[in-house]
Amino acid sequence: MAKRAFITGISGQDGSYLTEILLNKGYEVGGLVRRNATAEMGNIDDFKGEIKVYYGDLQSPESIALAFLDFKPSEIYNLASFSSPLGSFSDKLGSIMITGVGALHVFERAKEVVPEAKVYQASTSEMFGAPNQVPQDETTPLNPKNPYAVAKEYAHRMAIIAREDKKNPQFISCGILFNHESPRRGLNFVTRKITAAVACIKNNRKDNVPLNEIGEPIVQNGKLKLGDLGAKRDWGYAPDYVEAMWLMLQQDIADDFVIATGETHTVGEFAEEAFKVVGLNWKDFVVTDSHFVPPVQTGPLQGNPAKAKKVLGWEAKTIFKDLVKIMVHSDLAKFS
Ligand code: NAP
Repeated sequence: MAKRAFITGISGQDGSYLTEILLNKGYEVGGLVRRNATAEMGNIDDFKGEIKVYYGDLQSPESIALAFLDFKPSEIYNLASFSSPLGSFSDKLGSIMITGVGALHVFERAKEVVPEAKVYQASTSEMFGAPNQVPQDETTPLNPKNPYAVAKEYAHRMAIIAREDKKNPQFISCGILFNHESPRRGLNFVTRKITAAVACIKNNRKDNVPLNEIGEPIVQNGKLKLGDLGAKRDWGYAPDYVEAMWLMLQQDIADDFVIATGETHTVGEFAEEAFKVVGLNWKDFVVTDSHFVPPVQTGPLQGNPAKAKKVLGWEAKTIFKDLVKIMVHSDLAKFS
């Protein structure tokens, strides 16, 4: 009988790549989708006919329970979240209700309805905040610096409590994933904003330029506005990272795993590399704007994925320069 995987946040970047790899592995896949006025399916539009869609919301425990009752998953991947660290400052309550309490609803409903199911929780390197240890691993103390990361820490700690429950332990593994990007990344994230802007500039696109997170065209008067060019991140490629999520649920013991490349680059280096792909000098196009600098800074974030390599046999396959190229080429076609 085919294994059955249920994904919350299935229409997001990771949900869509995870769906593809699970369908290829022969799984039946179901997922929770928020109903919207236009019935848009985000990144899963191309394969929505191959999966079972349940309309619901992480803030509605009833919708989660009904989906589990009907689909009866053996694996649950909780990827749904209000996932913008910068955006979380303008909706602190929404962050804790969706990203924090919403995850607890998933754990609790899973325990009641499908107690044998293995659960994956999407934790994040943002929980390390401003770490005093570089690189970070599973033992690094958490020190979150934005409402998103605080909400993720709450979910992470509730997952560990459920796992360590002596009377009725629940299988919940947490992937502490460092930033991972792709052509499916939202335009409110810095990497995708850069590659979309490079494409609009190179293609001399003047109409229907995509909007940034404050509702302005990402390119105005030929310039791209960015925040802190010196912010350092450990950037990997999303399809590599969803494979690690699956591997975590194939283990006999639930645990935490850092998933990262182990290499860092600054936002400025990402922009330099992206403009280089189309033969342009980033310094001619990038300006800084304090709107895009978070009120409290995070980093430097650099992961040590040694445990994932040893236990899961996982390591990042796609190097930084290739990641940037993949994203720029995709956006050149998209914003032609
Ligand atoms: P994403 O593209 O932003 O996807 C988030 C998904 O969650 C979307 O499908 C979104 O649906 C859904 N969602 C938001 N609020 C919801 C709610 N109230 N009820 C149900 N669904 C809701 O994020 P991602 O990059 O795929 O990341 C997947 C997970 O990993 C997230 O939890 C993220 O925080 C975490 N993570 C990501 C990274 C990274 O670098 N990408 C790193 C570490 C951890 P809509 O389309 O309707 O908004």
